[in-house]
Amino acid sequence: MTQVERQSWDVVVIGAGGAGLRAAIEAREQGKRCAVICKSLFGKAHTVMAEGGIAASMGNVNEGDNWQVHFRDTMRGGKFLNHWRMAELHAQEAPDRVWELETWGALFDRTPDGKISQRNFGGHEYPRLAHVGDRTGLELIRTLQQKIVSLQQEDKAEFGDYEARLKVFQECTVTRVLKDEAGERVAGVFGYERESGRFFTIEAPAVVLATGGIGKSFKVTSNSWEYTGDGHALALLAGAPLVNMEFVQFHPTGMVWPPSVKGILVTESVRGDGGVLRNSEGKRFMFDYIPDVFKEKYAQTEDEGDRWYEDPDHNRRPPELLPRDEVARAINSEVKAGRGSPHGGVFLDVSTRMPAEVIKRRLPSMHHQFKELADVDITAEPMEVGPTCHYVMGGVDVDPDTTAATGVPGLFAAGEVAGGMHGSNRLGGNSLSDLLVFGRRAGLHAARYAEETAAKTATAEPRPTPDDAQIDLAAAEALRPFSAEGGDPARSTGPAENPYTLHQELQQTMNDLVGIIRKAGEMEEALHRLTALRVRARRAGVEGHRQFNPGWHLAIDLRNMLLVSECVARAALERTESRGGHTRDDYPEMDREWRPVNLVCRLADPSGEPAAPDARQGQIRLERRLTPPIRPDLLGLFEKDELVKYLTDEELTQ
Ligand code: FAD
Repeated sequence: MTQVERQSWDVVVIGAGGAGLRAAIEAREQGKRCAVICKSLFGKAHTVMAEGGIAASMGNVNEGDNWQVHFRDTMRGGKFLNHWRMAELHAQEAPDRVWELETWGALFDRTPDGKISQRNFGGHEYPRLAHVGDRTGLELIRTLQQKIVSLQQEDKAEFGDYEARLKVFQECTVTRVLKDEAGERVAGVFGYERESGRFFTIEAPAVVLATGGIGKSFKVTSNSWEYTGDGHALALLAGAPLVNMEFVQFHPTGMVWPPSVKGILVTESVRGDGGVLRNSEGKRFMFDYIPDVFKEKYAQTEDEGDRWYEDPDHNRRPPELLPRDEVARAINSEVKAGRGSPHGGVFLDVSTRMPAEVIKRRLPSMHHQFKELADVDITAEPMEVGPTCHYVMGGVDVDPDTTAATGVPGLFAAGEVAGGMHGSNRLGGNSLSDLLVFGRRAGLHAARYAEETAAKTATAEPRPTPDDAQIDLAAAEALRPFSAEGGDPARSTGPAENPYTLHQELQQTMNDLVGIIRKAGEMEEALHRLTALRVRARRAGVEGHRQFNPGWHLAIDLRNMLLVSECVARAALERTESRGGHTRDDYPEMDREWRPVNLVCRLADPSGEPAAPDARQGQIRLERRLTPPIRPDLLGLFEKDELVKYLTDEELTQ
């Protein structure tokens, strides 16, 4: 049997970003013992990078705002594919979550009369994003960490141990969710310490996935090294399905130059605060790209768009503030038409729109980022920007109220790893609010589930416990890269493969063939290449030992990226329409018949194993599922003329 350190907790949260920390705080507040596990250092999660702000209809800057307007904007942004119940809960609860952060010590920027300031963002009807300059994520994480420390101090006072009920295991990677002996209920997690390479098992009846996104499967991305789709893959391997995986958000504005920083995000606040997009001819081209569904809501002239910043009640917003999918496609078209900037993007200009000191005050990180990384002074010259893979709308199929993953008792998911909330396209600012709203719900329901399990244990049913065989298998899987070369003829049919080369080929494949504009032939080619890569990835080999060995870590992560990439490619090939973040060259229109259809991805082998290396049919099975009908009172928030653009005739009749 493998030598593994074992511990036992009530709730395990995988991920220490906004969703994970909020879940952990809630589970602990419910009196449960909660372990948080994260790949990087505590406080270094992806959430820290969030810039523009957190969307919540507090109505501080425009009193017209309320949860119904936020709900409407979110559904429109997601082209009505959002799970309506998630969008409803999110819009209703986001303001409370922001105010709660304030009571825990967050310091948001203020309006002149002292309220939390809110800024404009694409697709939001009113100024709605609470912010701290362009470093909002940093303040969010700082506040949640501070709250965790204060809870640990309470535990020290009560139990004599800071970590009695809340402990963070940092720089640890989970590679498997473990099940009970019957293979039904969650029983814990298996992982390794990144520094020592030692394995560990944490037994717990409830596990919350809060692992973030999948961007590292694409070559040009705003995402950091941690975004290898681990939580998505862990859910699949544990038997839970994923939804909406064809919807990947390409943020319109990433840096395009120099090559070493290509993809790094240029926050949407730049446009929210007045920045404009121009092509190489100096034209504000977004006016040519307002789609019919949004025509009535956006300014038709530059004058009207500019007046909106001062007088939003009597003018329509400029088209630079269309939802992200629209702006990204427009930039792509301009570059393709030969009207791009010297390095293959377009120009984003604030220098002619605001005084230098205002730019430095409102966009300090952007000013710093361009000066340091590209030697561009954004107070004096335009930035060059282009689309970058930014966010995945698809994720674990969850119950909206409890965040419980479909079909796997004890598994919960919140934040970017969960699907449904954002439909086919997320509005900026709606992720930070999503993390807090559903992070809290995940912690609450995981704690309740752990409580119920404990109650049953006291009577008849034993606490779910992983068997040793499962742990041995997980350890063998993790160790495979050390014996790739000729180590096991049954699995290894060629020389060892370099994990870095495989990763680069995967990123290139996804970028070129399943990127911002998609075609059937290219996606079929992508699936073909993914199969070949999967066969080779079984032979991903590394040298050296288990102590801090990044090549080994990547070899393990490849399993996850390949699983998730196949989900994206398969679902994207199946959906023969264009909607939100999914654009098909061969099916350029949105098709109302597709609106009520969710594509659900499951592991083809229900025993929870990735497919054998010689399997040609792939490892993901795709199903179509109808979305639940939208509640009539929520539909009543929209004009009939608008609904006609989205819903099928049958839905409208009902
Ligand atoms: P994360 O914050 O990424 O946390 C994931 C955690 O999971 C990490 O701790 C990681 O270490 C851990 N983890 C992953 N895999 C494993 C594993 N196998 N084992 C153990 N731990 C694991 N959204 C907005 O709403 N407003 C914004 O202004 C905004 N700006 C953004 C700017 C940038 C540059 C980027 C990239 C994104 C931005 N977003 C913004 C999106 C938003 O930041 C993310 O969607 C959100 O932070 C995701 O939070 P999360 O808690 O789901 O995951």
